[in-house]
Amino acid sequence: MATRTCQHCGTGLSSPRAKNCTACSAVKAEAQQLGVYGSVVSALGKAQRDGLTGPAVAEFARTAMQAEVDRQNNAARRQREQEREFDAKREARKAEREAQNAILRQHGYRWIKNVEDEEEADAFAGWPSMTIGGWTLYAPDGVEVSVQQALDEIKRGRDVVRSEIVEREQAEARARELKNQIKERVGQIADYIRASGERPDGWNHTEGEWVLDSGNIYGTGSWFVINIDYIWYVRNNGMDGDDWGLNNVITGGAGGIGYRITFRQDIADELIRLQHGELSDRFYLPHVEVKSRGVVADFFGD
Ligand SMILES: [Zn+2]
Repeated sequence: MATRTCQHCGTGLSSPRAKNCTACSAVKAEAQQLGVYGSVVSALGKAQRDGLTGPAVAEFARTAMQAEVDRQNNAARRQREQEREFDAKREARKAEREAQNAILRQHGYRWIKNVEDEEEADAFAGWPSMTIGGWTLYAPDGVEVSVQQALDEIKRGRDVVRSEIVEREQAEARARELKNQIKERVGQIADYIRASGERPDGWNHTEGEWVLDSGNIYGTGSWFVINIDYIWYVRNNGMDGDDWGLNNVITGGAGGIGYRITFRQDIADELIRLQHGELSDRFYLPHVEVKSRGVVADFFGD
């Protein structure tokens, strides 16, 4: 009759129905209690594969169990630390907002809840600790302002800040207007070259000074090329789906469609000024009829 042995460590067993020795049994029970049963079973298996027998097996499993318990405790501690840190930051932000709101209130700035119904709006008008979620800040003169602007107005004076904003908006409007005028003028010059110039056959090199270049690797955009003989207007025509058979200018891509006029100093000068964002001293441009407008509008982007 074969002697029964522990399934993990080979220790002889007295009970005919047992599968584990006392030591292995104890470590497994403990693991169950600590919630690391899986790790201990794996460790027992590993000990067996590594050739351990006798009490060394349960010891190995116990060491693994402790390591897993430590690992889990460390992870839990790290998580608690992170939560505490997060809470502390949230508290700090809240305190900062409250301090900020106190300053705003002191200087007559008001938060008003954005609601349709006027009665409801009155009921909601107050001083929330949160500066988010449908609340709008108003200056004492009723103008809607950002927190940043309100604090700036308190610090440097409302009139100063407001006049700077007006100046900035006017400057932006002027810049937009100039950009549009430049685009329009560039388009006129492109049309003039297309209508009054020639479109030479074959594959042409266009060496010289590239100006107002909006060409790109996708095969779109346009540019002018100025050299001592000619001024070219080239429209990139290299996109998939473009009719490449129309191309007569080498671009490095699939090619472009180029028109040229005999060099003229006044036109060259104006193109270079336009390239620098200047709109002045226009050369005389006779009215020309064009079948379709040149693609020149995208040089300055939007
Ligand atoms: Zn055992």
